[in-house]
Order: sequence, then structure tokens, then C-alpha cells
Amino acid sequence: MANLLSIINPATEALIQDMSVDDGAAVAQKYNRARQAQPEWAALPLADRISPILRFRDLLTERVDTLAALLTAETGKPITQARHEILALPDRIDFFVENVARVLAPERVYCAPAQAPPAQETLEEVIGYEPLGVVANISAWNYPYFVGGNVFVPALLTGNAVLYKPSEVATLTGLAIADLLHEAGVPKPVFTPVVGAGLTGAALLEQPIDGVFFTGSYATGQKIAVAAAPKLIRTQLELGGKDPAYVCADANVAVAAAGLADGAFYNNGQSCCAVERIYVHTDVYEQFLDAFMATLQGFQLGDPTDAITYLGPVSRKPQLDVLRNQVADALAKEATLRCGGQRVDRPGWYFAPTVLTEVNHTMTVMQQETFGPVIGIQRVASDQEALALMQDTPYGLTATVYGTNRDRAINILRQLKTGTAYWNCCDRVSPRLPWSGRGHSGLGATLSLAGIRTFLHPRAWHLRGGGVMGGGEVG
Ligand code: NAD
Repeated sequence: MANLLSIINPATEALIQDMSVDDGAAVAQKYNRARQAQPEWAALPLADRISPILRFRDLLTERVDTLAALLTAETGKPITQARHEILALPDRIDFFVENVARVLAPERVYCAPAQAPPAQETLEEVIGYEPLGVVANISAWNYPYFVGGNVFVPALLTGNAVLYKPSEVATLTGLAIADLLHEAGVPKPVFTPVVGAGLTGAALLEQPIDGVFFTGSYATGQKIAVAAAPKLIRTQLELGGKDPAYVCADANVAVAAAGLADGAFYNNGQSCCAVERIYVHTDVYEQFLDAFMATLQGFQLGDPTDAITYLGPVSRKPQLDVLRNQVADALAKEATLRCGGQRVDRPGWYFAPTVLTEVNHTMTVMQQETFGPVIGIQRVASDQEALALMQDTPYGLTATVYGTNRDRAINILRQLKTGTAYWNCCDRVSPRLPWSGRGHSGLGATLSLAGIRTFLHPRAWHLRGGGVMGGGEVG
């Protein structure tokens, strides 16, 4: 009997469709086709790889209505936020396209007459860059265009073939991305979607792939690392976070409250870099809390297909238990519930936006990734107390400080082991900057020039002979 994956609409709990899943044999067949096709793709002039990617970029904009409706249907992401995600991917694509040539270019790092006879010879040292080969991209559902595109766009541009496993929660979007890439001219075996959940992902890792680029939870990231270790392949893990924010005594409270409420609740808190815990200096605590609650009141909860909806359902039903348990644990330890705390009384996987105060670090809500519309806000007496609390989780994705004194903010942020540091902003990603986590938040970087180079092997060329060779002859 074929193994089936049921795609459910989180806002209505209705079945969208059942899909058959790729088993081990199907995954192996896809791998073999990708392996065969990759050398020809890598041998194309760069312009011939760029051109279908640019066409893909244009198709995203042309088809945004259909693509956004699909993303909203299967993940519950509010339609305005779905459109925003799709329409923001072209900016990232442009960054990759504009920079791929310089990253691929061979570098002649040394050239001199050879020391030993014959004297007319030169010794040249060149670094060439070559694609990894066939890479697996195992992706998450919360921003399928962003977290997928951060991997498959530079992977393809640099000459790799990609086996792309979208999350089982965003399968239809993953298949739509594949259709668009193929229509744009990327050969089918060069970009192949693989359909299924964890077992399919595990089957993908059994293939002799040359790299794995994973986005997901710390728990699954550990399994990926273990499966990839004996292969000694490039392994990149973009994992979860427990991203802290601190509001200093000198902060512009209105700006901080508006920024942090959006940072905590955008996409229903289901962002890897969502603000997950807030520390507020006692001097501005009451003022901040009032402004934060007022901002939250303005967030419209409802049908995600409605353009004015800001908060939809959570995308995965089991997450409702995680949220309920974190709230129950906090309340059992004498936190104060300022709003929310339970499911909303309507069909769909809705959880009311929840604010907890009088929280502390014995509570799971301040320690473990929440990944939903629940936030803990803790009063602190000093910068030192805030810093100690911000440091007190094994995660290291992002951290935020709001305050008017730049030196103070940078001094605090520098002492935190995170891939990203924000001053007076949060929940922000730029294609020009590396996106990376430390500790339980991951390994390696996407985006920036580092996020292109990660799809390449360097090769050291030692070239001794007559005449000077051009750098373009190797690589
Ligand atoms: P998840 O770990 O449940 O699943 C991620 C992917 O791994 C899915 O495609 C899943 O099918 C696959 N998978 C599961 N078990 C596997 C196995 N044994 N072998 C191979 N593949 C397997 O995570 P999720 O719920 O899809 O995503 C949410 C998590 O992702 C959160 O923790 C979030 O913070 C994190 N995330 C991180 C970033 C980042 O850039 N750091 C971005 C987005 C999401």
C-alpha cells in the first residue's frame, strides 16, 4: 500500500489532498538522475545558469496570487504575509545573481619566476572553486520561499544539483517551487522535489550525496548531523532559537513595544528569529507593558485568507500542546497571564495571542523554543541582570537591544554568542549579511558571500611551467 501524506488546512482542519510519499527506492532513483545530470549543469557558462534563475524570479511575481493562496491554504500563514514572503524572495535572488561570478572566479594568489632551473619557468598558485555536486536541501515550512531559496538558489547558480525535500507541512508549495524552476528552464533532474516527512528525509541522507543543507529544529538537526557524520560531507544546520530582547532604561518605549510586538507575533511567532523572551528595565517596565499590550490589541486574528488578518492558526496541530504546556508550566510557577493562554473557540488550530509576566528562568516559556504566539516578559533591575538572563539558554540565533545608547547596546550584544545582533530592530534578515546560528541554533551560514561559497569546494592549483597562465584557465 502506498504511503500517504495528508495535507490539512490549519484554518479549517479540512483535508486539502492526500499525496503519495517517496519511499527509499523512489529517492534513490531521483538521486541517480541528479547525479547524472549535475556535470552538464556545472559545465554550462554561468550566464546559462543565471538566466533560468532570473526567469524563476519573474515568475514568482507574475504568479504571486496563486502561490500565496496555496501557501496560506496549507500553512495558515495570513495571505498578506504570504504575499510579502514571495515578493521579497526576488531581492535575495538578485543578491545571489549579482555576486555569484565574483565568488566563482578563480583567484591567482601567487605568481613568480620559478626558483629552480629552467629559469624561464614560472610558479603560479591559483584557488579554483568547484560545486560540491549533488546536495540535499531538507527544509522547514515556516518560510518555505526564504529558507528554501537561501539554499537552492545559490546551490543551483554555483553548479550543484539539488534534491529538495520541502517540509511535509509545505509540500504543495515545494512542488509549486519545483514547477516554477522547471518552467523557467532548470532541467528537472537538476532540481528534484522529494515528497514526504522524516522517513523520506532519512532516506535522502542514505544516498551518497555531497552535502546536506538543513533548516528545522534542534532535535532533528542533531539526527541530521549524526546521519551525515560518517559521510564527511558539507553539513549545514539552520536551527531554532530562543531569541532574547532587552529594553534598556533609556529606550524609546513606543518604538521598542511596536517593534517587539511585531517581532514576537509576526507569522504567529513561527519564525526562527521571532522574539521569544523580553527583558525590560524596571524604570520603563510599566510603560513598556502598556504600549506592548496596546500594540497587540491592534493585531487582527481571523481567517488567513482575509487581507486584514495578522494572526492566523498555528501551522502544526501538535504545537498547540507545546503552547498549552508552556503556559500551564508558567502559571503553575506563579506567572501572571495578561491575555490569551488557550485555544480560540473556533474551528482551526488557533491559539490566542498570549502574554505572560512575572516569569522567570525556571519556566519552560523562558528556556525552550515556543514557536507560537506566546511571549514572556520579565522585569530586570540592571543591564547586568538582563545580560545574564539573555545568555541563559543553549541557543544562539539572534539577540536584540532597544536603547538610545549605541555603545551600551553593542557592549551587551558583543557578550552574547549569537549569529545575529540587532540594535533598535529585530526579526530582520538581509541577503547581504550571513544568516547563522551558534550553539543549538546551528552550524554554517546561508546568505551573504559566505552563503554562496558554502556550495563550493576550493581547489589549490600549483602550476609550474612556461609563461603566465590566466586565472580563468582553472576552477
Ligand atoms: P523539523 O525539525 O520538525 O523538520 C524539518 C525538516 O526535517 C522537515 O522537512 C522534516 O520532514 C525533516 N525531517 C524530520 N525528521 C527527519 C530525519 N530523521 N531525517 C531527515 N529529515 C527529517 O522542523 P520544522 O517544524 O519543519 O521547522 C521548525 C523549526 O525550524 C523551528 O525550530 C525553527 O526555529 C527552525 N527554523 C530555523 C531557521 C533558521 O534559519 N535558523 C529557519 C526556519 C526554521
